[in-house]
Amino acid sequence: FFGEREVAKIPGLPADAAPRDIRTTAVIGAGTMGGGIAMCFANAGFPVTLLDARQDALDRGMTIIRKNYAATVAKGGLSADEMEGRLALITASLDFESIRNADLIIEAVFEDIEVKKAIFEKLDAFAKPGAILASNTSYLDVGKIASITSRPQDVVGMHFFSPANVMRLLENVRTSNTAPDVLATVMRLGKKLGKVAVLVGGADGFVGNRMLAQRSREVLFLLEEGALPQQVDKVLYDFGFAMGPLAVSDLAGLDIGWRNRQSRAHLRKPGVRDCNLLDKVCELGRFGQKTRAGWYRYEPGSRVPLPDLVIERLIVDHSREHGIVRRQIEDTEILERCLYSTINEAARILEEGVAARAIDVDMVWLHGYGFPRYRGGPLFYADEIGVKNMLDGILKYRDQFGPDFWTPAPLLVQMAASSTPFYDS
Ligand code: NAD
Repeated sequence: FFGEREVAKIPGLPADAAPRDIRTTAVIGAGTMGGGIAMCFANAGFPVTLLDARQDALDRGMTIIRKNYAATVAKGGLSADEMEGRLALITASLDFESIRNADLIIEAVFEDIEVKKAIFEKLDAFAKPGAILASNTSYLDVGKIASITSRPQDVVGMHFFSPANVMRLLENVRTSNTAPDVLATVMRLGKKLGKVAVLVGGADGFVGNRMLAQRSREVLFLLEEGALPQQVDKVLYDFGFAMGPLAVSDLAGLDIGWRNRQSRAHLRKPGVRDCNLLDKVCELGRFGQKTRAGWYRYEPGSRVPLPDLVIERLIVDHSREHGIVRRQIEDTEILERCLYSTINEAARILEEGVAARAIDVDMVWLHGYGFPRYRGGPLFYADEIGVKNMLDGILKYRDQFGPDFWTPAPLLVQMAASSTPFYDS
């Protein structure tokens, strides 16, 4: 509760940075995220124009929005009149002319820097002066996107999480040029939308996805060393996550991670360990729940993950092909590798100023990644384990697996030496 209040206060923001007035909004891209974001605005009473390049995409997006509202009505969460009222706030459009008057425009098109740049060039031409131009990118450098425009001070990241109308986290991404009043606006807007808005910086996954990438890597390494999906998932579920990481990937869609991995293939360093198990699962056309098969299999109409012999065989064959002798992996090792790798990355994130405070990191993981609330967040948990113990654990894995992924963050080393916790009361 206190954390949620604390993250709304931005250290160093000038007191005279009065938020801009936001009355009308627009969302570019009527896909998974764009549709959910449009619902967020309509739910909070904002008129929103939902724009796509293609009529079929727009129709599909509007149909899904209507279906989502109808499901809420069916469950008694909304009256039929309220549903119509919200739908009436959403205007579908194919024409950039229709967003000329928007005070805030959020781009949610494909995760491709060239596509985004083209959109921002257009927004620069069409949006009225003073409009806030936001990107929902998951990984791309918002500063680079902003530099395409003649008004980088008005550009900011607003990273919603899927499903956007449900997930409470909003990572607001600042660039070195974003104007203070724009930051004040998107933080206040987050609250109006019922979100926990956290201000972050950087690129490459900002705070949440950057930490998640560490855990995702360790999960795959654990699989090829000897664990099975159900074991890894059970350990994290027992720790308190609502779902294990592999079941979550099946829910989100494995193709998202696969596409992301392909787009980052050029960043892989020769000689550095890499696990391509995800490629192998996706190459079988197994994209998770939507194809009723991913890391698990799913009975028709069911979301219950069932262990699948096909996957077990695939993993065991993969280990053999790579000359890895599978071993019994203790639950403690699974937990430590999944958590310590993310906490080490969080220390780097703090060091680089990508997050300002430990509380920002913890709120991101509590509200966007299902970290168990009663454990306070990854860094609160690190303090409970003790920073020195955490460092010792990381050094143990560095000795076992080498320095590529287990070099402790300098901040962690310093903190351990001076017995400083992440939360210094
Ligand atoms: P999506 O493929 O479901 O939707 C993208 C939409 O953009 C499509 O409807 C497409 O027709 C439209 N589009 C493409 N080019 C366009 C253009 N030039 N003009 C107008 N519309 C255009 O994609 P998504 O999953 O909703 O992702 C959108 C963005 O949100 C990406 O940047 C992604 O990284 C980010 N994001 C996705 C998730 C997720 O879980 N899916 C979570 C957080 C952020």
